[in-house]
Amino acid sequence: MPLAEFSLIEKYFSTLGPARSDVLLAVGDDAAQVVLPPNMTLVAAIDTMVAGVHFPENTSAVDVGYKLLAVNLSDIAAMGAEPTWFTLALTLPHSDEAWLAGFASGMSDLAQRHQVQLVGGDTTKGPMVLSLQAQGLVPEAECLRRSGAMSGDNIYLTGFIGDAALGLRVALQGAAYPDRGYLLNRLNRPIPRVEIGVALRGVASSAIDISDGLLADLGHICRQSGVAAQLDLNQLPLSAAYRSASVGIDVALSGGDDYELCFTAGVAHHQHIQQLAQQYNCPINCIGKMVEGEGIHCFLDNQPYQAEKRGYQHFSG
Ligand code: ADP
Ligand code: MG
Repeated sequence: MPLAEFSLIEKYFSTLGPARSDVLLAVGDDAAQVVLPPNMTLVAAIDTMVAGVHFPENTSAVDVGYKLLAVNLSDIAAMGAEPTWFTLALTLPHSDEAWLAGFASGMSDLAQRHQVQLVGGDTTKGPMVLSLQAQGLVPEAECLRRSGAMSGDNIYLTGFIGDAALGLRVALQGAAYPDRGYLLNRLNRPIPRVEIGVALRGVASSAIDISDGLLADLGHICRQSGVAAQLDLNQLPLSAAYRSASVGIDVALSGGDDYELCFTAGVAHHQHIQQLAQQYNCPINCIGKMVEGEGIHCFLDNQPYQAEKRGYQHFSG
């Protein structure tokens, strides 16, 4: 007998993540109720994953559960906020217990790690669509927006980029790169840069997480801040696995799904940012600077470089 809606919710989603003291009502009432600390503002982000669009159909349930929460925590991190609670809307073709158990456990591991609690959701039957809304807290003046970059600021990137795009080629086409395991892991288990996001309060002038590719996402910072970016492609942080795949540089510039943070900061913060990289054991590389003008101007070996294509857009034909 497949589990019916309420038993399914009870079994897998009634307690997921820590029992936070600021949660007055979680799963089980018509809505959740939480306590907001004084002097904090609420940020909320929602991301939906459609099987076959946002993850290959053969992705393990554990990885799907992990990634659905990870991509939302990444958005909260990109605001400089501390993630606190989340809600989950599941549309599933059938109630498959093995899948649900894996999905809930992948999500639960990450929820525990970042002390975020599942406080409610919705469960319906239909083609698989997984939607998660995360909430977090940040002092009003310290929220990291896309619009704060200034001419003269440095541009930084956490971690490595391009790995997830190669991982997708491995997953979908069986691409025969060295380090396939590492690349697949980078696709399926992105690391939301939560601690670094919070540490960038009062340091970064703007921030975004890289979900659609560096050029596409940095392009949002440029437009919303009214400045241009000058990128030194020789400084792009590429993993050993990416380099040994010998695919050139365009995949790293346009590939999505890395969920690294791209942020800008005044040059006076450079030392401090290097210390953060040490403290959080995550490379943070300066890849260029903001300048007057518009658009993104790339340089490779000091020569202008025209990148091939920009990030993925739904409905773009
Ligand atoms: P309502 O009919 O009032 O919208 P539901 O019957 O949809 O409530 O859900 C009952 C309770 O279970 C609610 O507290 C809701 O937040 C929670 N819930 C439903 N689906 C999920 C889910 N996938 N994950 C977490 N909580 C869920
Ligand atoms: Mg109700």
